[in-house]
Amino acid sequence: MLQSQLFTKTRREAPKDEVAKNAQLLIRAGFVHKELSGVYAYLPLGLRTLNNIIQIIREEMNAIGGNEIIMPALQDKSLWEKTDRWDDKKVDNWFKTEFKSGGETGLGITHEEPLTNLMRDYVSSYRDLPAYAYQFQTKFRNEMRAKSGIMRGKEFMMKDLYSFSRNEAEHKIFYERARAAYIKIFERLGLGDCTHVVFASGGIFSRFSEEFQTVSDAGEDIIYIDERSGQALNKEVLTDDVLKELGIARESLVEKKSIEVGNIFNLGTKFSEPLGLSYKDELGESHSVVMGSYGLGPTRIMGTIAEVFGDERGLVWPEAVAPYRVHIINLATDDEEVNRVANLLYDEFLDKHIDALYDDRKGVSAGEKFNDSDLIGIPLRVVVSKKTVAEGKFEVKERMSGASSMISREELFIRLIK
Ligand code: ATP
Ligand code: MG
Repeated sequence: MLQSQLFTKTRREAPKDEVAKNAQLLIRAGFVHKELSGVYAYLPLGLRTLNNIIQIIREEMNAIGGNEIIMPALQDKSLWEKTDRWDDKKVDNWFKTEFKSGGETGLGITHEEPLTNLMRDYVSSYRDLPAYAYQFQTKFRNEMRAKSGIMRGKEFMMKDLYSFSRNEAEHKIFYERARAAYIKIFERLGLGDCTHVVFASGGIFSRFSEEFQTVSDAGEDIIYIDERSGQALNKEVLTDDVLKELGIARESLVEKKSIEVGNIFNLGTKFSEPLGLSYKDELGESHSVVMGSYGLGPTRIMGTIAEVFGDERGLVWPEAVAPYRVHIINLATDDEEVNRVANLLYDEFLDKHIDALYDDRKGVSAGEKFNDSDLIGIPLRVVVSKKTVAEGKFEVKERMSGASSMISREELFIRLIK
């Protein structure tokens, strides 16, 4: 991508009412646009980053047998009445509206109800199970708190997978695979070291669900980590009974603020029973399907990465999610030889499918180009200037470590082609 063709511009200041670091940096760098409080548009750099996060999640969901679908945002009220989740007194964050033809609808807050209902068309026998369906879909929630930037949107992207199993034992096998897949996802996203699997409330078989929590001062949750066993629990389940059950001593707990980036739940037959999703076993006997749900927030994860790695100069993207791998900075766009070398490098990157952003802008000072590059946060910066051309080398700098060096073209490509 030629930076001269990128319609977004960096800006020195974030909107005054934007208090979250993630949104401040993402807006200043031109990744997102604030439409309304808690409502954001994803711009070219932001969309590339989000798509990289989505792709990592998609690969791991496919690897455990997930079938990708997309469910509608508009909801069938009657399904939500069956599970008693339509009434505003039961669920207080619906966006509801009316059809001109009559009747109410709401914008999906989650998708257990419609997917359970949909599966009735495909599941009738034990031979049809287990089944796993997932989607990347925009959820709508009338959230009260909107101080966390893209980490708490009123409209946000969720990856929600639902598992349909014959019994608890079969459910358990998949649950463990999903848990392992989540751990792998956070490792691939660069968040492995600061993300913990945490006991939380809301399980059906065991009394816990499990949350994936990334330690950060920007978090809205409080977790306790037992540094000896590596176990962790959400403050909401911290009682003497629970500590005893988990074999944890209160003294060994360390309190941290954290961001809930994902969660996995066993749902039992909580949805399949009221919605009538059942199957017949080998003997012709009918059973309710045993379900699980597995949520992840790609937009919240993007905000989390901005919070965890961002510094005083701007965003810092781990290699796997960065919008581009390399940022070429041409410091002498009026010099024929410098242009030739920089253009050639960009063409070679295109040729070798190495994603590069090329700052080819004319009339922009070196200082401004460096500031913008720091703000955007691409992992590797490659400077082409009269000095580097004279030496026959490139000046490279890593955004995350700050390490810089002069290297040859060959060394540069060895480094980028792994
Ligand atoms: P929270 O307690 O933070 O409100 P939740 O328990 O409501 O989260 P779920 O309904 O389980 O979250 O949603 C699954 C995932 O979707 C969460 O783990 C999170 O990553 C993401 N998510 C939830 N609410 C939001 C939101 N308002 N904005 C962005 N991502 C969200
Ligand atoms: Mg919530």
